[in-house]
Amino acid sequence: MEENTNIPFFKASINEQDEQAVLSVLRSGWLTTGKECLAFEKEFAAKVKTQYALAVNSNTSGMILAMEACGVAPGTAVITTPYTFVSTAACARHLGADVLFADIEKDTYSIDPDSIEKIFAQNPQKKIVAIVPVHIGGNVCNMERIMRIAKEHKVRVIEDCAHSFPSRTKLGYAGSIGDCGIFSFYATKTITTAEGGMVTTNDEQLCKRMTQMRLHGMDRTTWDRYTSPRASWEYDIIAPGYKFNMPDILAALGRTQLSRADEFDTKRKQHAAFYNRAFADTDFVELPPDSEGNSWHLYLMRLNNEKLDCDRNTFAKELQQAGIGISVHFIPLFQFTYWKNLYKDFTAENYPNAMKAYSRTITLPLWPDMTQQMLERVVQCVKETGERHHA
Ligand SMILES: *Cc1c(COP(=O)(O)O)cnc(C)c1O
Repeated sequence: MEENTNIPFFKASINEQDEQAVLSVLRSGWLTTGKECLAFEKEFAAKVKTQYALAVNSNTSGMILAMEACGVAPGTAVITTPYTFVSTAACARHLGADVLFADIEKDTYSIDPDSIEKIFAQNPQKKIVAIVPVHIGGNVCNMERIMRIAKEHKVRVIEDCAHSFPSRTKLGYAGSIGDCGIFSFYATKTITTAEGGMVTTNDEQLCKRMTQMRLHGMDRTTWDRYTSPRASWEYDIIAPGYKFNMPDILAALGRTQLSRADEFDTKRKQHAAFYNRAFADTDFVELPPDSEGNSWHLYLMRLNNEKLDCDRNTFAKELQQAGIGISVHFIPLFQFTYWKNLYKDFTAENYPNAMKAYSRTITLPLWPDMTQQMLERVVQCVKETGERHHA
């Protein structure tokens, strides 16, 4: 039956428990940030083992809060990679800071610590305040070296954890290693609230600043205003803050999704292992970057260009024509008009590893509710396409 139907790139796993949770908030009369949010934050912090977790309305807003609290401002700079979603770097620009780009490692797609060190060495005049590693696909960066470099240069580490819930290394969960971790609950991420995010930290001062900036720069949260004995209308404003809070409708969904996270995680790992086994005997596919504790948010299939007579775009198009929902992660930022015009040395030639990764990677469907039949069909289409174009 599924033989001729399209396989979507992603489909969120929403069950009756998720539906009921949202419905009960709708019926409770309290729709925005309140006790569901507080409970979600507590449960999330317990899961990734951090002291604090702050629910926000997207990873992007969480990134702005974290950068702002870490001192990212006009006259400063952050270090990240061009191989990420654009919001990672755009947040620094919103705050008036510059972005210094490090290349990725050829094999892991993670920010290259050697390249970070080179940036520090070559930019002594810049006031660099943070390194922003991105755990691409859920495969955690070399945090040991990144933390060492950060300590040496006295800068903060802000982990972009949009892909890495629940990735875990011997240093701990992604998002608990640096000064802050920013998760995304966007519709296609490993757990979802449709739109949403979470900032984790163990730093009380950062937590306080982010809590206030999350809601207009108020010294009190909405929930506190309506539940504490202090007059509800009374508050102070300590800075021109943002409006980045998460409504309880979404937090309730986040809580049920979180309760299913281990089940999702197991299925993703099983599906990824199936792909890996299936592609192990082909010479035109290289297996994705992987390491212990990978959350397998994305299956980044790498084509071996030397074994094929076509490029990535043709391969991707033919998979789509066969009904396989694919994507490409990521278009490196130096490919975009805004970013390449911003810095004159921000070119493909200066980032050979990011360019190479981009030119040969196709992201295959990988979501918990995929059936065995679907997985087999994806494999079959990839193999047929590869054989048709074998060099
Ligand atoms: C999805 C994503 C984001 C942005 O997440 P939102 O919740 O949509 O703001 C940031 N960084 C990376 C690497 C992402 O994949």
